[in-house]
Amino acid sequence: MPALQRAEATVRARLLEVHGYTVDLDLTRGPDRFGSTAVIRFGCTEPGSDTFVDLEPATLHRAVLNGQPLDVAALDGNRLALPGLRAENELLIEAEMRYSRTGEGLHRYTDPADDAVYLYATCGPDLAAKVFACFDQPDLKAPITLTATAPDEWTLVSNGAPVKSEGGHWEFAATKPISTYLFTVVAGPLHSVYGEHDGIPLGLHARRSLAAELDREAPELFEVTAASFDRLHELFDERYPFGEYHQAFVPEFNWGAMENPGCVVFRDEMLFRSPATFSEHERRAMVICHEMAHMWFGDLVTMRWWDDLWLNESFAEMLGYRIAAESTRFTGTWTGFSVQRKGWGYDADQRASTHPVAGNGTRSVAEAMVNFDGISYAKGASALRQLVAWLGDEAFFAGLNAYFADHLYGNAELPDFLAALAAASGRDVHGWAESWLRTSGVDTLRAEAERADDGTLTALTVVNEGERPHLIEVGGYRVEDGRVVPVGRVAVELGPGRRVAVPALVEAGAQLIVPNDSDLTWAKIRLDAHSWQLVTETLSAVEDDVTRAVLWAQARDLVRDAELDPAVYLDLMERHLPAETADAIVEAVLTFAHVHVVGRYLTGDRRAAGSAAISRTARALLAGDGGQGIRLAALRAAVESSGGEEQLAELRGWLNGEDVPAGLLVGPELRWAGLARLASLGELDEHRIAAELAREPGTEAEFGAARCRAALPDAEAKARAWRDLFTPDAMSNRLLEATARGFWASGDDTAKSAYALRYFERIGEAAHRGDIIARQLGETLYPVAQAASEVLTAAEQALADQELTPSLRRNLADCTDDLRRTRAVRAAFE
Ligand SMILES: [Zn+2]
Repeated sequence: MPALQRAEATVRARLLEVHGYTVDLDLTRGPDRFGSTAVIRFGCTEPGSDTFVDLEPATLHRAVLNGQPLDVAALDGNRLALPGLRAENELLIEAEMRYSRTGEGLHRYTDPADDAVYLYATCGPDLAAKVFACFDQPDLKAPITLTATAPDEWTLVSNGAPVKSEGGHWEFAATKPISTYLFTVVAGPLHSVYGEHDGIPLGLHARRSLAAELDREAPELFEVTAASFDRLHELFDERYPFGEYHQAFVPEFNWGAMENPGCVVFRDEMLFRSPATFSEHERRAMVICHEMAHMWFGDLVTMRWWDDLWLNESFAEMLGYRIAAESTRFTGTWTGFSVQRKGWGYDADQRASTHPVAGNGTRSVAEAMVNFDGISYAKGASALRQLVAWLGDEAFFAGLNAYFADHLYGNAELPDFLAALAAASGRDVHGWAESWLRTSGVDTLRAEAERADDGTLTALTVVNEGERPHLIEVGGYRVEDGRVVPVGRVAVELGPGRRVAVPALVEAGAQLIVPNDSDLTWAKIRLDAHSWQLVTETLSAVEDDVTRAVLWAQARDLVRDAELDPAVYLDLMERHLPAETADAIVEAVLTFAHVHVVGRYLTGDRRAAGSAAISRTARALLAGDGGQGIRLAALRAAVESSGGEEQLAELRGWLNGEDVPAGLLVGPELRWAGLARLASLGELDEHRIAAELAREPGTEAEFGAARCRAALPDAEAKARAWRDLFTPDAMSNRLLEATARGFWASGDDTAKSAYALRYFERIGEAAHRGDIIARQLGETLYPVAQAASEVLTAAEQALADQELTPSLRRNLADCTDDLRRTRAVRAAFE
């Protein structure tokens, strides 16, 4: 059965008004299925007409519409026809549903640490019908009243406040009107910590085996939550509307977090079982703020259809970074945005599949969801930063508050948002939206400098080679005794195709010129040759974190565009990273060097030299006086790039707790990364992996062991991993991901090439395994480093297969674009 089509959703929304759902879940029916009874009360504007309800049961026991039984055998895929509606209707559906192992629907997880069982529901974007019968589209909102039966020792948390629980029977208050994709319930022998802020009851929840971590992290989680609530309440007229605010950390979650009103779920890796860098704490604070912003953008006012996903995500993204920076002690979030997050969006915006930020006119949920990417998040947020820079905070938030007031508990589209902003600001917001939200691709902003023979700047022009207006700051610096001294930042308004002179920086005697210095806009930048030369000499001496982030991001961009030899990027890293002071930059540069430069762009001897350069840089950072986060990021890089007898002996020592660099601990995450490195080099066998797994059983061990087994270089281990990857239901979503991550870590080129060709013969099978598994197989397992021409040909043939689902096609097409880029980089410099 195809996903819901937009045309069908439009008809159903016109026809129906849903008054409410009562949902009863029986969670005591064993490991495979749960009972789900739903009563839906709804009105129909055209009595006598027909519609359908969405449900995906294992068994449909009973369906009764207005007292009349419906034929349960008439269930067609995930739809049941509802004929002859009255003005007011009541539908009863009794069914048994399947638990999920892919994080889609009601996911069931057995904790390897203590065999306790946990459940949580993921209903977005169109998975609610795996949990209860419903009209599953964002613009049919209704209150949901949940009751549930569960084992006695369990705690349940859901969108509504719990009002009664005895003998394993739970009742929750009716929610405000919400979209079905925002329903959740989290269940199991949870460990909980409760608090309160400004009259809002707060709860934090996690698996029992993470009790110590939750207790340790709770003060910081509450602190960020409280600060974020205060700031949101300053910015928005409407107070937080959903009663209690619970944050649950759940296992095997597919995304970072999900903004269910009153009950946000996070992947429980965010509880940091291992030591974490400051930048990881900062990103978590940003995610907390992001989900809280969703309570307004997405939950209170929801996009009418999925092609306006940006109305949820771009705002939450922009406010998540902004609120964390403004209101919590994590004030450096924008550095991470510049050097890490935006790369995700720039990459997406330069692939063939790029799309406008807003309103793509997609027909089905499945098509819309492939745009759940760096464009909807990072680019959308950057576009909004431009909008704020142009309108000013006052008009921007006045517009937003009018938008909320007009669509409270309802749905909206791009024109509604623009109308509210235009009214509040009196500006041509529609023209702005045409160029920023309705177009795709990245503009290039180029600095053109004229210089005297001694390098003195005599004229400076910034050129907008794109079609959008940009409001940027151009930074000018002098280099004096190895120090980089700022001499001015000039605001420049660059119309489409415009060239703007910046005489102020010439007069100030600037030598190094940085367009988009404070990273206000979304654009590629190109420095003049002399400035770039100065950057290679002085990058680490630039004082401002965001400016360094912009320059590192530009170097990354030059490598990807085959304008800079990847080996030169590594020189830059080796020269300047040891003096770097921002965790986010150290992490981003080491990761790009490891994953892209060494992992893809370099081959043969150059690859070996690249790996050695990362190793030297990591050890220089470890020997330096950077903060704990920087040293931890360096230790991770040292572990992942270990090679040669001496370093492997050192690595084995670290895993035994010997000679670990001062102030650092080898937690489970790093331990398993080290074991995976040893496994890929053939320095570990199955017995040792089993012993490690038994040593401290838990989620990390389970994932780590799967990754290690797939990383073993022998042919038998590879064949086993391959068979498991392509056997439906052999593994959960995250075990499959771990296996896919390990698979390409070892093996000679001949063996890898052979598997790459087999990959494209079989990848079509993933189309039948749901979007999440298709993503793991279509993206995580994609042979990104196998860039021979016959592999590219095989990839193109696989893409010609008409049977691919939208998400699988998109994953394969994007990775194939990246493969072409890898070939171009290699061709340019080898
Ligand atoms: Zn979001």
